[in-house]
Formats: sequence, structure tokens, C-alpha cells
Amino acid sequence: MIHSDKGFFDTFGGKYVAEVLRRPLDELETAFHEAMKDPEFLQELKTIQRDYIGRETPLLFAQTATKLLGGAQIYIKLEGLANTGAHKINNAIGQCLLAKRMGKKRIIAETGAGQHGVATAAACAKLGLDCTVYMGEVDVRRQQPNVASMELYGAKVHAVTSGSRTLKDAVNEAMRDWAANPDTTHYVLGSALGPAPFPDMVREFQSVIGREVEEQIAARKLDVAALIACVGGGSNSIGFFAPFIDKPSPRLIGVEAGGIGDGIGQNAVRMSGKASRDGIMHGYKSRFLLDEDGQALPTRSISAGLDYCGIGPQLATLGKQGRIEFTYARDEEALKAVKFFARNEGVLFAMESAHAGAEAIKLAPTLPKDKAIIINMSGRGDKDVFITCPVFRREEWLNFLHAEIERLENNREIHD
Ligand SMILES: *Cc1c(COP(=O)(O)O)cnc(C)c1O
Repeated sequence: MIHSDKGFFDTFGGKYVAEVLRRPLDELETAFHEAMKDPEFLQELKTIQRDYIGRETPLLFAQTATKLLGGAQIYIKLEGLANTGAHKINNAIGQCLLAKRMGKKRIIAETGAGQHGVATAAACAKLGLDCTVYMGEVDVRRQQPNVASMELYGAKVHAVTSGSRTLKDAVNEAMRDWAANPDTTHYVLGSALGPAPFPDMVREFQSVIGREVEEQIAARKLDVAALIACVGGGSNSIGFFAPFIDKPSPRLIGVEAGGIGDGIGQNAVRMSGKASRDGIMHGYKSRFLLDEDGQALPTRSISAGLDYCGIGPQLATLGKQGRIEFTYARDEEALKAVKFFARNEGVLFAMESAHAGAEAIKLAPTLPKDKAIIINMSGRGDKDVFITCPVFRREEWLNFLHAEIERLENNREIHD
């Protein structure tokens, strides 16, 4: 099942929101379905995907990696070559274009690590829309490079000081804003979750990845055994998998963040984790990591984009039905995968995407050489220097940071 049935994917999904949000959600649903049937809108979307995002993104044969692992041929969908460095721009551009069509001039978004905030801020700059990004105060403090990018693109970053001052509080604040300003404002949600119609809408805007891959497979006559993607909220994976969901093959493999261990608070494994439960949060029913009172549990991952307690409702359903297989990679395996693909293929994976890379490293040797597996590299790793450098070259990185601070404090050679 690709599309939801009135917002539901079997028992998951829905629109569990306060009364004030029902009308904006219903209006959005109608506008979205109309837009997807309007040839003019679809042409505009296609043009901006080509000229601004840089689509289509390449499908790379990882020749050396394949040889070293000695099994299935490994291919990498280089989604990280999309403008702004990851797949998130596909959704941001799609929703901003839709907002414009609805006559809304103001965009709001939530962001955790800041990747979705950056993509939305960039899309708003391109399309001439006013942009406010809600971000927990704790995240604002620890994700300064992304905050700086958002501001460069002209967005206002609103630091949220309620609750734990992280992603879930930013979502609450964004929903409150939307409820207060539904006529002027569109809320660009960042992953394939939240109340309907967001899971359907985000999947459709991300499915450009899967549709390109389908053509690339046909053009090269590949015999594909499996598609592998990392799963945070689930937008890159569901977009990559979309055209294949209703077919019996290839295998679809979702890789969650295994963090540092099995214990509660040590990972973000929503589909098979110890504290994994059905629940309702942020307007939708799905699988979450919750305590006995139904409160969100802390999660942990080296990759900020996978560090979230919930998973999109369609993925949860497809996992339950067995169409998508779920597994996880530990932080350490993801770091190894970053090194492996950098050194052997000249491709720097984002920490998130490296979870999918780690699974490919395990799977390829178990499959015959005439089969192919495709990894979705959801983003590139340039953004992760603050994570990878302290691990790979701690001493040098510390020296560099000290020297930078000294340079800034002692001689202000660079001005605005
Ligand atoms: C945000 C992010 C993810 C996780 O989000 P999904 O909605 O699960 O795709 C994965 N990779 C990168 C590079 C990201 O920025």
C-alpha cells in the first residue's frame, strides 16, 4: 500500500491534533491533492528540481568496495550531491512551492540538528518566502554552524526555551504557531511523520529519489537484491523505497541508529528496541521509544538526524507487515563505514547515511556477484567534521580549535 487510507496506514498514522489544527490540515490535504494533479505545478517542481537542487543525482558503481567485499555489486545513490548536501531539500522545495500555490507567504519549520532548518531556509530564500525556524535552545547552542547557515539564507531562528529545549519542544512550538496563524502560514514538517497529510506529502516529494533509481536500474539492467537506507523519521528511506513497495522485490532494508548499546537511552531503535511501543505523539500514531507513562525516552546516536524517538507511520506499518526489514548499525560501525567509503570510493557519507553503508558492508559478501545492492547516501559528510574529527584525529582537532579561538580573540582580521 503506497497511499494512506484517509491518513491511515493500517492502524498507524491519523490526525491526532487539537481542534484548531484540523482546518489547516484539511485545507493542506485538499491543496496537495489538487497540486499533484496540476501539470503546471508538476512542471514547475520538475524544473526547480533540475536547476536548483541539481537532479537527477547520480547512481555510482562502487567498484573498489565491491571488489574488496567480494560479493554483490554495490551501488550508491549520491543524494548528498543535492544542493544543501542532503535529501531534505526535496521535501522543503516541494512544500514551499505548494505553500506559494496556496497563497501563503510565511513558512515555519521545526529543526533538531538543523539540517531540515537549513533546507527550509534555503528553499524559502530561493522562492522568496518569509522563514521562521523553531529550534530548541539546547540545539541552537550545539549546532551553531547550521544556525549560521539558516541566518545567512535569511531565516529567523527562534530558540525554544520550554521543556527539554530540544526537537520535540520545537515541534510543539511550531504547531502552536501554525494553529495561531493558519491563514498566512504553512508549516513545513521535516520528515515522513506527523499528522496526515504530512506522511503522504513528504513521501511524494521524496519519491523523486526512488523514481530516478528505478530508471537508473532499468538503464543499466541491474539485478537488484536489496535497497538500503538509514531511518530517522523516515523521509529518505520511504522516498527511496516508494516505487518498489507494492512489488515483491527487491528487499527493502531500513537501518536505525544502534547508538552505543541495547540499553534504554543508548540508541534510537524504534522498531525492535526494548522500550519500543505503539503510541501517539505529535499528531500521529506509530512506534515510539516510550516509558511506562507514555513519555518520550531519551535517545542516543552519533548521527543527529537519526536521534529521534519516533518513526513515520508508513514505515512502522510496512515493518510490521514484513515488507521492510529493519536492522540497526552501532555508532562505531557507522564511523568505520565513513572511512571505508571515503578511502575506497572517494565518497564522504553523512553519519546518518553511513548507517546504511555499514549494513551494505555486512550484506554484500553474503550475496552472489551477479546481484546488486543500492545504498541511499542521504547526505554528504562535510557537515560532520565536528563529530568525526574529534574521533579520527582528536589531538590535531583540539589544537586547531584552540588556535582558532586565539586567532579570533587576538587579531580580528576578518570583518563583516
Ligand atoms: C535528517 C537526515 C536523515 C534522517 O531523516 P529521514 O527523515 O529518516 O530521512 C538522514 N540522513 C541525513 C543526511 C539527514 O540530514
